[in-house]
Amino acid sequence: MGKAPHHLHRFHGGLHLPANKTLSSGSPIRALPIPARLVIPLSQHIGTAADVMVKVGEPVLRGQMIARAQGYVSVPIHASSSGTVVDITDHLIPHPSGLSAPCIIIETDGKDTAVDDTLSADHTQLDPSELRNRIRQAGIVGLGGAGFPSFIKLNPGTNRPIATLLINGAECEPYISCDDRLMRERAADVIGGAAILKHALNATECVIAVEDNKPEAIQALRDAIAQRSVSDFAVVVIPTLYPTGGEKQLIQVVTGREVPSQGLPADVGVICHNPGTAAAVHRVFALGEPLISRIITVTGTGVREPGNVEVRVGTPMADVIAACGGYTDRAQRLLMGGPMMGFAVGNDATPVIKTTNCLLVAGGNELPLPQAPLPCIRCGACVDVCPAKLLPQQLYWYAHAKDFDKVQDYSLFDCIECGCCAYVCPSHLPLVQYYRFAKTEIWNQEREREKADIARQRHEYRLFRLEREKDERAARLQQKQAALKTAKGETTAEDPKKAAIQAALERAKAKKASAGVMPKNTDNLTEAQQQAITNADERRRNRDSSTATRSEDA
Ligand code: SF4
Ligand code: SF4
Repeated sequence: MGKAPHHLHRFHGGLHLPANKTLSSGSPIRALPIPARLVIPLSQHIGTAADVMVKVGEPVLRGQMIARAQGYVSVPIHASSSGTVVDITDHLIPHPSGLSAPCIIIETDGKDTAVDDTLSADHTQLDPSELRNRIRQAGIVGLGGAGFPSFIKLNPGTNRPIATLLINGAECEPYISCDDRLMRERAADVIGGAAILKHALNATECVIAVEDNKPEAIQALRDAIAQRSVSDFAVVVIPTLYPTGGEKQLIQVVTGREVPSQGLPADVGVICHNPGTAAAVHRVFALGEPLISRIITVTGTGVREPGNVEVRVGTPMADVIAACGGYTDRAQRLLMGGPMMGFAVGNDATPVIKTTNCLLVAGGNELPLPQAPLPCIRCGACVDVCPAKLLPQQLYWYAHAKDFDKVQDYSLFDCIECGCCAYVCPSHLPLVQYYRFAKTEIWNQEREREKADIARQRHEYRLFRLEREKDERAARLQQKQAALKTAKGETTAEDPKKAAIQAALERAKAKKASAGVMPKNTDNLTEAQQQAITNADERRRNRDSSTATRSEDA
């Protein structure tokens, strides 16, 4: 490339682990046959489960949306092949809890008929908002294992400009080689998808970081970049050390910047995506294909033909193992993920989902079996290896005591569950299990608190509404009464002017009525007095009548 070598940095702790990748990394990716039944969980991502859009008995096509996103942190789910929905029910899902969750069961028809394409486009003609929308509609989530909806990471906000799109090709977990094979065989897809992600982020540069134990992938990526003649793309080779593939650790190695505690990569101007995610984004725009398949590593001495296979989402793990030659006599434990961050799967009827990167069938003593835990001896070995610079023994202590406030004071949520602490612990303490337990409990408490807050707000609003309706009813009644009084000619107390006029009228009326009544002090009169009055009245009447006659004559 003619560029100066990239200056690298180091993160705290970490481990050099036996890689055990050659079991699976030697042979090319194989596409597995479509299974007879697909078991497609509604929740395959971080966030709210998708909402079912189909009914039992309904025919579906490959790529058809069968469950829509619910809320912001959610993505839709699509049918991985054509067939008929035969059930919508709880089914085992890959989760450390081993619980069941709602799934759509499809009986495939073998035709694999695709739905009409509504996604493909020339990405350079679309603005970032439309790019994010299509990536969401295609159900794309982080394929590195976390399953965070990718469109959200493409929207860091205007106050956080992104300098670097970092493609995380570290793949540091032992045994897993699916990203290695993808980068070797489909480097053009990875670079094509990275170009779309970079355009959506308006990022200045794209760095693809790959561990130095993957020379073929490094070369293939460099060739793909050369073919596109892009100057703002670079492949950076980083030392092999577990867990360099942790987002924060990789950012530190490549840029020297430390993502703050509780912070996001965008806070230091970086967004990280997995090469599998980039290739899936490429397929959306080049082929109009939503996320319905992925490449997974099938490995361990418990499976006959380890390798990397392309699998439809929803394929039962038993079908995948069978297509890889079946179990060997040594097969003892089935894990989803690698030996450090994976978890045991109790039943191989469990389906492959969007975040399944590896099925590890451990044989015999291939992986250490859990041992009886002993008391912490405060040796500090866990502190030395923790890449997040935490105090694992303190976290364990407070998680064990269920002191969820204290465990958060020790930055529990900065723990990336890499397992380095448990790996070196001489007391065999299942440290990561305690951290997962504490996180789940805290999330549950948060959810309960949110539910309680919503319930309280609803109750307060109801009281407010009832009070408002009561006031409105009273106002309406008053208006009615006022209208009735007006109709009867009465005044209302609300019109003091009218009331004053009415009172004045009443007073005038009364005065008028009393005007014709002369005071008569005629009680208890003597006969003579009475006769005198009668005579006086007689004279007045005569005088009045003669005056009236004169007036008429005149
Ligand atoms: S490594 Fe184990 S025993 Fe040693 S301090 Fe950490 S938790 Fe305790
Ligand atoms: S699991 Fe968590 S606490 Fe243990 S080493 Fe990894 S980041 Fe540190």
